[in-house]
Amino acid sequence: MRLATYRKGKAARLGIVWGDKVIDYNTGARLMSPKGQGAAKAFSDVDLRGFLSRGASAIRMAKKVEAWVGKQSAGKSRSSLKSWVFDLAKVKLLPPLNNPPKILCLARNYASHIREVSEVDPLPEDILVFMKPGTAIIGPGDPVVIPPECRLLDHEVELALVVGKRGRNIPEEKAMEHLAGYTILNDISDREYRRMKNPPHPVNWFFMKAQDTFAPLGPFLVGKEEIQDPHTLRLRLWVNGELRQDSAREEMIFKVPAILSRISRFVTLEPGDIIGTGTPTGTSFGTQKYLKRGDVVECEIEGIGRLRNVIRVEEPVYRTR
Ligand code: MG
Repeated sequence: MRLATYRKGKAARLGIVWGDKVIDYNTGARLMSPKGQGAAKAFSDVDLRGFLSRGASAIRMAKKVEAWVGKQSAGKSRSSLKSWVFDLAKVKLLPPLNNPPKILCLARNYASHIREVSEVDPLPEDILVFMKPGTAIIGPGDPVVIPPECRLLDHEVELALVVGKRGRNIPEEKAMEHLAGYTILNDISDREYRRMKNPPHPVNWFFMKAQDTFAPLGPFLVGKEEIQDPHTLRLRLWVNGELRQDSAREEMIFKVPAILSRISRFVTLEPGDIIGTGTPTGTSFGTQKYLKRGDVVECEIEGIGRLRNVIRVEEPVYRTR
């Protein structure tokens, strides 16, 4: 199952991606819910994070809605779907999640990228994790916004895990039960802050990775049942049509169950948490081709989709919203 968040009028709506259509889950769940006791509201009045926290019952409801739409669209009552089943190409997609409890990112999980950014042994003993705030998230088509002085802007296409079930100290053999699915994250970085020169300082991770708009996310959440082996998916990234990153089936170093298990040793994983799993070679740091104003960056992961964003330069201004 594929889930998207899209804009209808002014409201953000949860949708089920169904071929080239998007089914409004909120409407469908309201129509299909048992009557009374606020049950309809409990099922229908959710965003993706709320959907995930309702667990298996929400997934059952989404399947019911999808099956019902399938039946209706084949029959005579097709016109009744017009107000809540739309062409995917005609709606504005938002980030699938814009309020995750946490965004965690693995810094070094592909040997080719480790060789590109450092001279250390390419096989680390443990995962290296940093965080981005929710304010970093943007959706498909949204601009990455930087101030004019930013000169070392970098891209990193990554498979992002989306947590579906709360857990702490999760054993590896149970880890996949805690995963809802996958999406694409472009881990944007300002390499200016990789080293502080005076005084010498290792890496200013927060300035480098956490800035507003530095976490393009989307286009959909793809359910884990659709992806057989997440570790060998082909990740590619283009800048203005030029292929810059291509994992060419290079495998992640730390695998999904190990990542979920290890992180949950330190923090509770919650429904809606996003975990970037690292990037292969071809980043701007390696190629020395940094992103600039107007560049179009496209990330693609096989079986998941394509995420496109543009780089915009703006003078910093005081804002309260
Ligand atoms: Mg990264």
